[in-house]
Amino acid sequence: MKWQPVDCHAHSTFSDGQLSVEQVVERAALYGVQPSLADHISRDVARTIDTVDEVAIYLDELERHPVLHSGEFCYHDHLWREIPGHLVRRFNHRVGSLHAVRLPDGTIVRAFSRHIPSGLTADAYMDAHIAYAESFAQEMPVDILAHPTLVAMSFRHVDRDELWTEERETRLVEALYKAGIAFEISNRYQPHDRLVRRAVDRGVRISLGSDGHTREQVADIIRPLAMARALGVRDEDLYDPRRHGSRTDWQGDRR
Ligand SMILES: [Zn+2]
Ligand SMILES: [Zn+2]
Repeated sequence: MKWQPVDCHAHSTFSDGQLSVEQVVERAALYGVQPSLADHISRDVARTIDTVDEVAIYLDELERHPVLHSGEFCYHDHLWREIPGHLVRRFNHRVGSLHAVRLPDGTIVRAFSRHIPSGLTADAYMDAHIAYAESFAQEMPVDILAHPTLVAMSFRHVDRDELWTEERETRLVEALYKAGIAFEISNRYQPHDRLVRRAVDRGVRISLGSDGHTREQVADIIRPLAMARALGVRDEDLYDPRRHGSRTDWQGDRR
């Protein structure tokens, strides 16, 4: 089989994407990319799959198309804990996201909201973010951490070197390595070179994701692939659930 890059993370109209499953498949064919659908499965996203019954309907539909079956689960939301094993086994791979961070006092800070607790500094936020990422890696049965550099809107203007100190980068990479969770090079929230290099050097598997929601975005993983190659990652080592399996497939009966 000729090697083909996998877009491990794209959205359809099952959540907040604009394309049908069929249209995602068409766009991927144009790019020569193996498509995956990773629609939101969470109760804390605006347009999303938010019940176990809808997860079953979603998987039924994906099984009618030449597409890998995935889902993007919010760590801070409870729904991923409720998915029964017989449905878990129908996913090729599962994507985990830190769409919110829990502060030490229990407050949730959402990545897509401008509202942050008064007095929360970038440093305190990032410390909480890394601690939350560590607990995510220990606890959550997923194969990929989506967009690892996504931070709350109020801190996106802060200098990258201030947010991503060497200690924080090392802790994130170490947590992913220990858990066997892949680091996504997202085309939507592009990570900085230094962090990806740190992940590669540590032996963390790299995954490519368009995080595409529109016709223009879906399956476009040209830049993530170029970045992985520039850092010396071999094509066949890029995460492909058909080749590398899924660590969430805990009952060993993958389709
Ligand atoms: Zn996301
Ligand atoms: Zn996404």
